[in-house]
Amino acid sequence: MRKNDGYVGRIAPTPTGLMHLGHACTFLEAQRRSVEFGGLLFLRIEDLDQARCKEEFVQALEEDLAWVGLRWEVDVWRQSERLGCFRAVLQRLRDAGVVYPCTCSRKDVAEAIRAPHAEGQEPIYPGTCRESGLPMEDEAEALAINWRFRVPDGEAISFVDGRLGEQRFVAGQDFGDFLVWRKDGFPSYELAVVADDIAQGITEVVRGEDLLASTARQLLLYRALGEMAPAFYHCPLILDTEGKRLAKRAGALGLRELRAQGVAPEELIGLARRT
Ligand code: GLU
Repeated sequence: MRKNDGYVGRIAPTPTGLMHLGHACTFLEAQRRSVEFGGLLFLRIEDLDQARCKEEFVQALEEDLAWVGLRWEVDVWRQSERLGCFRAVLQRLRDAGVVYPCTCSRKDVAEAIRAPHAEGQEPIYPGTCRESGLPMEDEAEALAINWRFRVPDGEAISFVDGRLGEQRFVAGQDFGDFLVWRKDGFPSYELAVVADDIAQGITEVVRGEDLLASTARQLLLYRALGEMAPAFYHCPLILDTEGKRLAKRAGALGLRELRAQGVAPEELIGLARRT
């Protein structure tokens, strides 16, 4: 990528807890890249999970990220205010014929799946509702049901990650038909993130490498919508002192804790290398 070619990046925290060293490192990398390319960096609050997202975490994250040294454009986006846009994207996917309504409960899906799946890996949806063709006349009814994206079974989805190089996931094997809409009237993470990355004109997505397989799913959404996908750059995950992935309750590696211990923001990256 050339300098000053209209780079637009974003940092997209979910306010379900306090930020930790892992968030700081990923977001600092996003900032480093946006500065390197002379671009913009947006803050987008991914607050769609009504039960778990809290206003106090939004305030805390803005404070903590500013302490870390992050600066973002004044126009802060909140996904909870963008439901109209997400509904329109669902409609586009429906018009394109790439999604189908699914009445399976989590329990149904769990019972229908016999093949064991690796820890942390989403089980592959068995396709029970793929051909069900439920009539869906009423708009309110359509928004009160789960919708899944029908993945092209067996197709390899490849992309070149800015840090990790060539990546390849096989649809139907590495991931199955995924949810784009939930019956509670909210989009899934995959739909919301793609809709907003398009709407904000994001040119490069910088995020943690736990989302590599999600990128493959999202590339299918870009294709189905006829939109150009951004570039992707996945950052390493920061592990705690026991070698486990940092969770929301990061204890000693929470940004608030580090600050209270007298750690300076400039020391954070070095600290991450030692964990
Ligand atoms: N909100 C997501 C998270 O906190 C990040 C989404 C993304 O960067 O695409 O994990």
